Amino acid sequence: MSVSLYDMTLPELELWLVSQGEAKYRAKQVFHWLYKRRAADVDDMTDLPQVLRDRLRATATMMTLREVARQVSTEDGTVKFLFALYDGSTIETVIMRHDYGISVCVSSQVGCKMGCKFCASTLGGLIRHLSAGEIMQQLLACQRLLDQRGERVSSVVLMGSGEPLENYEAVIRFIDTVTDPDGLQIGQRHITVSTVGLVPAIYRLADERRGITLAVSLHAADDETRSKMMPVNKAYDIASLLKACHYYYDRTGRRLSFEYALIRGHNDSLQDARKLADLLESLPCHVNLIPVNYVPERNLSRTPREQIKAFVTELQRLGVNATVRREMGADIAAACGQLRAEHAREQV
Ligand code: SF4
Repeated sequence: MSVSLYDMTLPELELWLVSQGEAKYRAKQVFHWLYKRRAADVDDMTDLPQVLRDRLRATATMMTLREVARQVSTEDGTVKFLFALYDGSTIETVIMRHDYGISVCVSSQVGCKMGCKFCASTLGGLIRHLSAGEIMQQLLACQRLLDQRGERVSSVVLMGSGEPLENYEAVIRFIDTVTDPDGLQIGQRHITVSTVGLVPAIYRLADERRGITLAVSLHAADDETRSKMMPVNKAYDIASLLKACHYYYDRTGRRLSFEYALIRGHNDSLQDARKLADLLESLPCHVNLIPVNYVPERNLSRTPREQIKAFVTELQRLGVNATVRREMGADIAAACGQLRAEHAREQV
C-alpha cells in the first residue's frame, strides 16, 4: 500500500526512507521539495537521483485532493474551496484576509459527530477522520494559490468541519510539519486549534506545552442552555471545561480564545453576557462573538445588530476582552459546512 508523503513528519520520513534503503539526509531534500518548493509531482524533485524518484513514485502518493468548487468573495477576497478526497468525500477549506495577514481554515474530519445545533457540518454525522496528509494538502492547495501572487499563509486555524481534538494524532502530526523549520515554518503561535471542549484532550494538549492557541467553543454561559446547543456539554459540563482551560493556561501561558455564536433568543441576552463575564473572570482570554449564520436545516436566526452591540458592550464593561468577529465572505457560503451542504443538496 502506498504511503502519503504528506502524512509523515520529518523524523517519520527519515525513518521511512532509511527503511527503504535510502540515506537519512534524503528526507530533508524531499521535505524541502514538498513544503518549500511545493512540488506537485515527484518528477519535479530534480535534484533527487532517478532511482529515488522511481521508488517514491512506486511506493508513495502526493496530492490526492481534487478541487470541486471554489467561491471567491468580491467583498473581502475570502476564498472557499470544496475539495473531494480519494474516496469521494468532500471537505471545505477557507482562505481569509485580515489586516495582520492571511489565514487558512482547514477541516480535520469529514463531517462531524458533535451535533452542535447551529452547525451545518454535523448534519450528516461523522464520515471519517482526515489523515495528517489530507489536512496538510488543504493548506498546500491554498498556499499554491497564494504563491501565484507572491503571498504567504501567516496563520492556520483548525476550525473547519470536524472536532480536531477527536482526531488528535493526525492533528498533532500536521502541526509538527506546519511548524517545522524545514516544513512550512509557521510559528506555533500562529496555529489555532478549535475544540467543543473535549476535556481529556485539553489536558493532554496542555501537557505537551506547545505554544498553540486553544479556541474553545463555549456558546453559552450555563449548562442548561449549552447542553441544548452542544450535546458534548452533557459529557463535559462548563465547570469541568473551565477547569481544563485554566490548566491549559497554567501549563502553556497561552491566553485562551472562547467562541460564542450569538443566536437570537437562545444565548444573547444581557443576563447571558453577565453570566459569561462571571465565568471567565479569572482566566486570561479573549471572547470572539460570532453572529450565527442562518442554517436552513436548523431554522436558527441571527441576533439583531443592536443586540450584538449591547452584548459586547456589556462584556467589555465587565472587563472581558471581547470582539465581534468580522464576517468573512458574507456574500458566499463561508460559514462552516455551508458550501458542502449546498453541494450535497445539489446532488439529490
Ligand atoms: S461546530 Fe465544529 S464541533 Fe460543532 S458540529 Fe460543527 S464542526 Fe462539529
